[in-house]
Amino acid sequence: MQEYLPDSKAFRAALHGKNVDLIILQNKNLQIAITNYGARIVSLLFKDKWNAWRDVIVGFDSLEGYLNSTEPYHGAIIGRYANRIKNGKFTLHNKEYNLDCNNGPNHLHGGHNGFQNVVWEIEKLNESTVLLSYLSNDGEESYPGNLNTLVKYSLNDINELHISYEAKCDKETIINITNHSYFNLNGQGNGTILNHKLFINADNFTPIDNTSIPLGIFEPTFNTPFDFTREKMIGEEINSNHEQLLNGTGYDHNFVLNKSRNDELSLAARATGNESGIILEILTTQPGIQLYTGNFMKGENQIKLNKRDSYRTAFCLETQHFPDSPNKPSFPSTVINPEQTFRSETIFRFFTNN
Ligand code: BGC
Repeated sequence: MQEYLPDSKAFRAALHGKNVDLIILQNKNLQIAITNYGARIVSLLFKDKWNAWRDVIVGFDSLEGYLNSTEPYHGAIIGRYANRIKNGKFTLHNKEYNLDCNNGPNHLHGGHNGFQNVVWEIEKLNESTVLLSYLSNDGEESYPGNLNTLVKYSLNDINELHISYEAKCDKETIINITNHSYFNLNGQGNGTILNHKLFINADNFTPIDNTSIPLGIFEPTFNTPFDFTREKMIGEEINSNHEQLLNGTGYDHNFVLNKSRNDELSLAARATGNESGIILEILTTQPGIQLYTGNFMKGENQIKLNKRDSYRTAFCLETQHFPDSPNKPSFPSTVINPEQTFRSETIFRFFTNN
């Protein structure tokens, strides 16, 4: 199988009055393509256990592919608020804000024109680092304050992709940003992810109602299908009739990461491609991680290499604050004030199991 990086020319176009581009970062063992349309990871190539390159990111080989996709979040940075906010409402200083309800009754991933759908400034700092920035104006998608966000993607020689996030706002606001890559560690388009092995470093998760809003409590994962503290196949219990799996139509839940202190950069999850032997470890300073198992993928989109985005052929592991935190006083706060700078760090680390 010939894996390749998309042609930058297929991304070069003017959109929303700005220039879209595709930047390649590479070192000995990693090749990655980033576009400033949504600050997204388009491709990530790593060698499998037979030394053949595999592209582990589900995506498209042109800007048009992303613009026409029925799923808008592939590989993108999600903001201002990743995941859901109940009924699109939250209150700061007695003022109620009403956000775009773009997911049934709820707000999802920053709204229709969230960070996935804007063109970021992009600057390649060197062969292994790219810096993206975006100024979201006061009132954009109904969020308060002018919010300036920086995202830095950088590769190192120990096969890691670091994603560093920084954000500052001139008014008090809420923020929850993540990267929404769809992974298939056997190579994008290469069949189900249900046979991937998965470990998640979480003794608790946040159960949801049938609109995917957290109930506001933590539930122990022990003795439930949500226990990934013992590595198991993603598909091992996905079809059990546990109420939470029915509410999420599969796994679509936030896990509460085990940490010895807040903001600790620690191991959150490890996934292994059963055919490729490619292992992805995710480390983060964030308190949570959303596991989404591609339950709404329908094969409607033609992805790279003329493959299709069929049912459960990708998973997402989105490092984040907990969903609906602005309405859940018991969850860690997602409010920042103008004196604070929001910072977080996530690492995708790759190796093989041979
Ligand atoms: C959500 C899913 C959603 C997916 C793609 C995930 O983060 O939890 O419910 O379908 O993103 O939009």
